[in-house]
Amino acid sequence: MSEKVRIGVIGVGHLGQHHARLLAGLDNVALAGIVDINASRAQEIAAKYGARTFANTSDLVGYVDAVTIATPTVTHIDIAMPFIEAGVAVLIEKPLAAGLDEADRLLEAAARRGTIVATGHTERFNPAVAAALPLVTSPRFVEIHRLGTFPERSLDIDVIFDLMIHDLDLLLTVAGSGVVAIDAVGVNVLTPRVDIANARIRFASGCIANVTASRISRDRVRKARFFSHDAYVSIDYATQEVEVYRLIPHPSTLARGGSVEGQDVPRPTIQGGRLEVANDEPLRVELADFADAVRSGRPAGVTGHDGRAALALATRVADLIATQPQ
Ligand code: NAD
Repeated sequence: MSEKVRIGVIGVGHLGQHHARLLAGLDNVALAGIVDINASRAQEIAAKYGARTFANTSDLVGYVDAVTIATPTVTHIDIAMPFIEAGVAVLIEKPLAAGLDEADRLLEAAARRGTIVATGHTERFNPAVAAALPLVTSPRFVEIHRLGTFPERSLDIDVIFDLMIHDLDLLLTVAGSGVVAIDAVGVNVLTPRVDIANARIRFASGCIANVTASRISRDRVRKARFFSHDAYVSIDYATQEVEVYRLIPHPSTLARGGSVEGQDVPRPTIQGGRLEVANDEPLRVELADFADAVRSGRPAGVTGHDGRAALALATRVADLIATQPQ
């Protein structure tokens, strides 16, 4: 590998333009090429960040060590597969693929060729999430809201695969046990697909998560709250603010080795507040992680298998909703 990791970007629309911007600014990375079926858009972004354009995705092979793919979900498999087969590392935007069969084909090819596959679950690289998740131990109840305004994009997929999948990925990361039951409801409002959805997910640990995602809201809200027996952690993904509150036993209770049955013991107190978080662009952290994975050969921070797991849970939620009358 040359001194810099050579990374190409495929699809420079709403999100891919930021892939190009951030990769161009990373040390040890060369933004090695841009491809978009919209040639003038490719040229505009390439000129802005000092990269060259290629007419076809296949033209990139030989010029790059890795590519990021930020095209509509239905195109992911056809674009990613030739790179995976050529041993070129891929970061595929979420959702990993349009269905589990496609995800499995991608992962099978990657395992066979030993190619790194990363999934763009950007929220995992949000500094607020990275700071908060280690503090979430044995959650009993989780409440998540991800409400956005109407995007005019990603309308080829339900809101479950567009927005909720970020939170499903996070839940799978913190729950520490399998899903045992799901109840879900969804409504199509402005599109023929599900625009707003709610899922109540029970994990084997007993933890219940209540997750709401909408792409038709007036205001933007992106918040998660985790309730444990002795702690409460809240994350505002957008402002990158974290609050942590803990139950502090009364000193006299501690001296007696805990509560004493049948006796009045002084109540514990709740203490906590804002956690200091060094803000950063989650996508920048994600791309830096990917470049480092390509350089070192280690798995990416969010692997293709993680992307497949989130897609599988999202598919269960979507299938449940599809069986309900609209
Ligand atoms: P977009 O429509 O704004 O951009 C897609 C771009 O891909 C366009 O410029 C289009 O011309 C180009 N394109 C389409 N088909 C192509 C092909 N076959 N070859 C080359 N270029 C092609 O869409 P977007 O909102 O940027 O979303 C792109 C992907 O990123 C989707 O998978 C979406 O789910 C994902 N996304 C992820 C996040 C996140 O937080 N990680 C946020 C937004 C979007």
